[in-house]
Amino acid sequence: MKFISLSSGSAGNCYYIESGGTKILIDAGVSTRYIKNALKQFDISIEEIDAVFITHEHTDHIYGVEVLSRNYNIPVYSNQLTTEHILARNFIKRKDLFNSFDKKINIKDLDIHTFDIHHDAVNPVGYVISDADLKFSVLTDTGCITKDIYESIKGSKAVVLESNHDIEMLQNGPYHYALKQRILSNVGHLSNDAAGKTAVKLINDGTEEIILGHISSTNNTYDIVFQSISYYLSVNNINIGQDVKIEIAKKCETSTMHIF
Ligand SMILES: [Zn+2]
Ligand SMILES: [Zn+2]
Repeated sequence: MKFISLSSGSAGNCYYIESGGTKILIDAGVSTRYIKNALKQFDISIEEIDAVFITHEHTDHIYGVEVLSRNYNIPVYSNQLTTEHILARNFIKRKDLFNSFDKKINIKDLDIHTFDIHHDAVNPVGYVISDADLKFSVLTDTGCITKDIYESIKGSKAVVLESNHDIEMLQNGPYHYALKQRILSNVGHLSNDAAGKTAVKLINDGTEEIILGHISSTNNTYDIVFQSISYYLSVNNINIGQDVKIEIAKKCETSTMHIF
C-alpha cells in the first residue's frame, strides 16, 4: 500500500492511498488544482483516482470536492447524514456523483471501513483501509479516543493520527474562550499529549509508521509536535527510526510517499 499526505490541517485536508490498481483520496479540503499538482509530483494523474471518501462536512475536508468530482467524474462517498448535509449546504451540480454507504464498502483492491469519532459534525468518521496484506487508518478531528475508536485502528501498519494543538499554546493563545473550549472538548481536536499517548499504544500493538496530522497553525508548531512525540516515545523506550517511522504531515505541502 502507498500513502501520501497531500495536505493536512485546517487549511485543507487530502490524503492519497493506493494499492494494486486502486487509487483513492480521503477528503478533498483543498482545490482541485492543488490536488492535481500535488499528485503530479509523484507521477500520479488525477484522472486515475477511483473515488473520494469524506470524513465529515467541515470545509477543510470538502472545500474542493464539488469541482474535483464534477471535472473528473470521480464518485464521492460518505455516510448518509454527511452526504445529505453536503448536498443540502453546498451548491453541487452533479448530485449523482455523491453516494452514501454505511460502515463498509469495497473499491477494487481496497476494503474501506468507517468508525465513529467524537467531533462537532453530523456524523464524523475515521477510516480503516485494508488490502490483502495490511490495514491502514486515518484518525483526525476527534476530541477523544474512546476504547471503540482505539480498537478500530489497533493493529494498523500505519496510522494518520491527529496532533492538533499544544494545550498550553491553545490556552494562552489568541482564540476566544468559546473556541478554546470547543477545541479542548470531547468533540474538538486531539492534543499533542493525546497523540503521544496513543502513538505509544499503537506502536506497542505493532504499528510501524505514524503520520502526525491536522496540526494547528495557531496553537502548535511542527517543532513542538516533534518534541512532544519524541518525549512520549523516549520515556517508553521507543526509538524513532528504529522501532517506528514518524512523519509530520504539513499544511499545503506533500509528505513523502510511504510504502508499507
Ligand atoms: Zn478538520
Ligand atoms: Zn472538523
